[in-house]
Amino acid sequence: NDVLLEVKDLKKHFPIHAGLLRRTVGHVKAVDGVSLSINRGETFAVVGESGCGKSTTGRTILRLEEPTDGEVIFHDKSLGAVNIEKADAKQLKKIRPQMQIIFQDPFSSLDSRMTVGRIIAEPMVINRTHEGRALKDRIAELLTVVGMRPEHASRYPHAFSGGQRQRIGIARALALNPELIICDEPVSALDVSVQAQVLNLLEDLQNKFDLTYMFISHDLSVVEHIADRVAVMYVGKVVEVASTEQLFYNPKMPYTEALLSALPKPDPRNRTRPTALTGDVPSPANPPSGCYFHPRCPYAQDICAVEAPPLRDTGDGHFAACHFSDTLTLKGATKLQDVP
Ligand code: SF4
Ligand code: MG
Repeated sequence: NDVLLEVKDLKKHFPIHAGLLRRTVGHVKAVDGVSLSINRGETFAVVGESGCGKSTTGRTILRLEEPTDGEVIFHDKSLGAVNIEKADAKQLKKIRPQMQIIFQDPFSSLDSRMTVGRIIAEPMVINRTHEGRALKDRIAELLTVVGMRPEHASRYPHAFSGGQRQRIGIARALALNPELIICDEPVSALDVSVQAQVLNLLEDLQNKFDLTYMFISHDLSVVEHIADRVAVMYVGKVVEVASTEQLFYNPKMPYTEALLSALPKPDPRNRTRPTALTGDVPSPANPPSGCYFHPRCPYAQDICAVEAPPLRDTGDGHFAACHFSDTLTLKGATKLQDVP
């Protein structure tokens, strides 16, 4: 596999301050030792309930948050493997533009005082890639590529719907010809009818420009549609990684099974109840002992409260963090063709 991005033992801990002197009394371990490897050209999804650390992982990879620890290695086509933490100014100047982000909320992520043209131009002006006539042409080209019209450049974001605003955000993310786009819940704020249009646009753009996506989402039905591989996060840690097919139909971690059981069933006669996720998501400031999922896990044994299961390869690149992933037979999503 042609690896584009490697994340090694990434940590982002936020200090908790208390009292008059704002002393540090603990840490929220929002991202706690995440390792991932994303291949060139794939859509790699990161899923989990809200607060599991998936957005912070994306933001920390892009250095929108300073990591507490860990490494991010970008494999540039000409420079080779570059460790972003140790890169010099010249390397960073080459690599930074190749990693872009699309945000969840197209209403707050676009500056309402700037025209659409200026919003899209900004990264090109900062990086001095285009100016004058060439800049104008490039803005028109980008608007066309995302299904908008060149004359939209002179209007302001408030003139557009949520779906159109997300297209503007995508145009801006494309401006510097990135390799990787981190899509942070890109359709969660949109109406269901608009979601499919934006997802189809993302797929078209991926094919057209050889893009690699890290696709952050809490919505498994969206992920099943778009992802090649999936990582499941729980309380700051990755607990399962597999191809979309394997993860959905042959899960090896009980938390993934519970998430899948909440998916709508294709067959209305299938009345099996979701493996209810009882109890709350633990606080990353004060996680449980052992396996973080043990207070909610229907399969928990004594060892689970004591020993944290490492994320290990169960074969064929299917990684799971569960003491019993080899012996448990877990239920995956229901395949449409399995419905009698
Ligand atoms: Fe459940 Fe134990 Fe596996 Fe954790 S290690 S998911 S508690 S069976
Ligand atoms: Mg694809």
